[in-house]
Amino acid sequence: MFIIHQLPRLQFLHIPISPLTTRKPKKLYLITSTLLSNPTPVSIPISEPGPASNSVTVTTSLSHFSTSSSQSPPQENIQLSLEKLFVPPETEVSSSENGILSARILRGSNIVLSKYAGGGAEVVNAEFVKSSVTTEDCPSDGLPEFALVGRSNVGKSSLLNSLVRRKRLALTSKKPGKTQCINHFRINDSWYLVDLPGYGYAAAPHEVRIDWDKFTKDYFLNRPTLVSVFLLVDASIPAKKIDLEYASWLGQNQIPMTLIFTKCDKRKKRKNGGKRPEENVQDFQELIRDFFQTAPPWIMTSSVTNQGRDEILLHMSQLRNYWLKH
Ligand code: GDP
Repeated sequence: MFIIHQLPRLQFLHIPISPLTTRKPKKLYLITSTLLSNPTPVSIPISEPGPASNSVTVTTSLSHFSTSSSQSPPQENIQLSLEKLFVPPETEVSSSENGILSARILRGSNIVLSKYAGGGAEVVNAEFVKSSVTTEDCPSDGLPEFALVGRSNVGKSSLLNSLVRRKRLALTSKKPGKTQCINHFRINDSWYLVDLPGYGYAAAPHEVRIDWDKFTKDYFLNRPTLVSVFLLVDASIPAKKIDLEYASWLGQNQIPMTLIFTKCDKRKKRKNGGKRPEENVQDFQELIRDFFQTAPPWIMTSSVTNQGRDEILLHMSQLRNYWLKH
């Protein structure tokens, strides 16, 4: 596991390292034999040994695995303490003798790549399968699935279309009568992307909101093939209470969760409440810290530039491949 001793504190919050797994998941988290193509391990310099501490600093921009199709804008450095990285099971993050922390971290994320990343990461085909109104109605073929959920207007349809490289596939979920359904899209005939109804729609009547809660929470709690929820959060604005409540509920119920920060291309200060996406992302981490024993994985994305697209797919592949093996 971590083989790092006596690191200096630098300018970061000191957070004691907690155990890597919060629970024995239903079937969760990562791992296959080869990485997608041939990513080079990245060496992240860390500081000279100093007084005893559990903190270490990495900079995400130094540590990226980049795939060819993303046109990510230049990214600002985000400094992360080691405890804020998402380290999959069966994955080591260690320091070598000369104080170099070696890890493969997905660009614009806190996610360390494991040996399970890669197999089937690319989307070759995608098709809408069905809309279900209850968990019991969902497909019963046992394929692993990832559920996308977020506030209305967060960019869920855009992200889904960007992931499958189809301009209008997610429109299916927006057709009358289907917005309040669990919509299954089969990918490569081997796994599902699941589009769940958006929450927090101000105009929705109270009863509809209660129903939504009951319905999606039942799905989260009782769907055995759910590998991870992907909770979408708009990074162009400060954290919203409803998103924090949602993350809190998932954390308390130990539902595996990945945070997908959307609209990271919206960088103009005036329009986004004075903070850049990177700052909103960091703030969100701080606000949800107490809900989780270990840092949940997160990825910064944009459906306009396709930033984060390949990273999400690679992360999904490691979660999926691990799930299939355990
Ligand atoms: P949904 O209601 O969550 O499905 O959200 P949509 O995908 O329909 O997007 C809502 C609005 O946000 C639309 O006007 C999109 O064009 C816009 N949008 C979605 N994703 C992005 C993004 O990554 N960057 C920017 N700048 N706008 C986005």
